[in-house]
Amino acid sequence: MTSFVDFHCHLDLYPDYPEVVAACERDRVHTLAVTTTPRAWPQNRDLAAPMRHVHPALGLHPQLVEAHEHEISLWESYLHEARFIGEVGLDASPRFHRSIDRQKRVFERILRCCADVGGKVLSVHGVRAFGAVLDQIEASLPEDRGRAVLHWFTGTTSQAKRAIALGCYFSVNREMLKSDRGRSLVRSLPESRILTETDGPFTKIDGYPSRPSDVSVVVHELARFLHRSPDAVAASIHKNLQVLAGPLDP
Ligand code: MN
Repeated sequence: MTSFVDFHCHLDLYPDYPEVVAACERDRVHTLAVTTTPRAWPQNRDLAAPMRHVHPALGLHPQLVEAHEHEISLWESYLHEARFIGEVGLDASPRFHRSIDRQKRVFERILRCCADVGGKVLSVHGVRAFGAVLDQIEASLPEDRGRAVLHWFTGTTSQAKRAIALGCYFSVNREMLKSDRGRSLVRSLPESRILTETDGPFTKIDGYPSRPSDVSVVVHELARFLHRSPDAVAASIHKNLQVLAGPLDP
């Protein structure tokens, strides 16, 4: 059986965090455990260390930059320990727009640090700011120095084309497949650049916060509208993750 991929989940925000980590391992769901502050890195790193399916990511969420910009130095101090980076990016929605200049400063430093070291894979947030996100990736993270996965992409079709040309991947969640616009955008993506995600616990399924194993719902919905079998879609997503990040199953 092919394992599923949840490439954006906040495992440390569930009340039963260690149990959710254990469930990823039991259910064989390769899960990117994103963090919103570098202060959460040591705990995520340590809980994930014995797990084959939980991959911790070092983050500094754009929505926290207004109050936590100073944590960028802590983020930098852990960078050598992290293979995956996230959640990082920009958020220009009304609540966070006023910190956009600071967010850009922080994101630029993150991208440049990643480009200097090389080999990192980033989960990138871009609410109402995917154009600026792509400008910054183009300027500061060449494709051969690191790869970006656009999480919950809500940009335009032409931004998607630009992202593809820049080497970006897309982690697709169920919310993106609910509208005609979202579905036609996902249909326009090359299958080789698609990963799946839940963004749990911020998304709900049947009224409850999504969990990594719920990513199977995204796989089934993708399969239905791509006219493929769920097994074929799951296998292709697993392969995409290995191409992106290297072998994950020791
Ligand atoms: Mn998130």
